Amino acid sequence: MPAGPTFVIVGASLGGARAAEALRDEGFDGRIVLIGAEAHHPYERPPLSKDYLQGRAERQSIFVHDDGWYPEHDIDLRLGTAVTAIDRNLRQVGLASGETVGYDKLLLTTGAVPVRLPVPGADTSGVRYLRTVDDSERLRETLASASRVAVVGAGWIGLEVAAAARNAGAAVTVIEAAELPLLGVLGPEAAQVFLDLHREHDVDFRLGAQVAEIVASAGAATGVRLAGGTETGGTETGGTEISADAVVIGIGVAPATGLAEAAGLGVDRGVRADAALRTSDPVIYAAGDAARAYHPLLDTYLRVEHWSNARHQPVAAARSMLGQDVAYDRLPYFFSDQYDLGMEYSGYVPPGGYDRVVFRGDVGKREFIAFWLSGGRVLAGMNVNVWDVNDQVQELIRAGRRADPERLANPDIPLPETVTGA
Ligand SMILES: Cc1cc2nc3c(=O)[nH]c(=O)nc-3n(C[C@H](O)[C@H](O)[C@H](O)COP(=O)(O)OP(=O)(O)OC[C@H]3O[C@@H](n4cnc5c(N)ncnc54)[C@H](O)[C@@H]3O)c2cc1C
Repeated sequence: MPAGPTFVIVGASLGGARAAEALRDEGFDGRIVLIGAEAHHPYERPPLSKDYLQGRAERQSIFVHDDGWYPEHDIDLRLGTAVTAIDRNLRQVGLASGETVGYDKLLLTTGAVPVRLPVPGADTSGVRYLRTVDDSERLRETLASASRVAVVGAGWIGLEVAAAARNAGAAVTVIEAAELPLLGVLGPEAAQVFLDLHREHDVDFRLGAQVAEIVASAGAATGVRLAGGTETGGTETGGTEISADAVVIGIGVAPATGLAEAAGLGVDRGVRADAALRTSDPVIYAAGDAARAYHPLLDTYLRVEHWSNARHQPVAAARSMLGQDVAYDRLPYFFSDQYDLGMEYSGYVPPGGYDRVVFRGDVGKREFIAFWLSGGRVLAGMNVNVWDVNDQVQELIRAGRRADPERLANPDIPLPETVTGA
């Protein structure tokens, strides 16, 4: 048993595993207890809606480390174990079994959970959400036999599932409350690219549509009824019914903040943390999808629910737990794969925060970079089927200087030479 203090990590997924790894890499020789509610060793989620869902990746490939890594690094890994409470006075966490584990420092990497669709019938068996490897395996089985799939929500998960379902040969209808898929993240200019992509693959879209009910027969979902209009006097006219033998809901995730809230930590749409990933309790830290941390470069509190953040932010939290001087300021980054479209997005655009989108390359062929600008400064960039440019895109954003839109749009001008002003 290692000597020294005990660091407890709650949430044994990518974030938790990366923090444990960083603590050992940094030479921490105290006790590390990594506690996870899921029965599986820590794994990565992006393949769950892509290659793994489509049966094109081996199960072994999704794990962060092989099983032997944890004992080899003296990580006390408790799987299938939910932490039910944090006692900040006694500095201990309570487990569902009734056991307690004391900590000198505590890290919360509790992640996020899918938002449930609040309509009648949403609990019917056959209605699928996608967050865990078990969800992905169940959905893969469903897609293997479904001939008509309804996807509620045209965000990243919904669109990736739509692509997987089309690849599996099912007819797909995507139902989305906004007027375009991904509208909130990308804005109308670039969101249109994803609508065109999926339409070319014969996905049927119901945009600006609300789900009123999941229709079921004999306990299994048979479709989705859309909310209809209302007659004068407010009487529901009843809406269209879309039949489906599988209904997948991807309407977003909510940070898992219950433990933090019950313990009286600062919570505001995520566990609030400073740039060193410390919460309102100086011995408790938070990182990954669960955390809303202060971002020094962007000068705002930000909760990032993406893989790259879950890889890097917990490493910074681990260093901070060891007393190192940390200010986590990596730019938000994410990626997606749908059919033959691969993309990376870097940066952050606050809601309504851009005044211009510049495209560089061939949008029709879906080989381009899109830049979101405000006052001439690049806030974010998305490269679509164009590779090895992400570092340069990030440099443009980090530089915070004005770029010339005409030069930015010209693929013959190297990106660093598009910066013109202060
Ligand atoms: C299907 C899917 C596809 C994705 N694809 C992409 C992608 O293409 N690109 C991208 O950038 N991002 C993608 N993401 C997002 C990315 O996977 C997440 O950002 C990342 O998993 C967050 O890691 P995390 O460790 O912070 O939290 P999570 O992965 O959510 O893990 C949190 C863990 O904590 C556990 N836990 C919670 N509360 C407790 C408790 N009280 N006690 C014990 N354990 C607890 C949970 O069971 C869970 O295992 C995808 C996510 C999903 C679900």
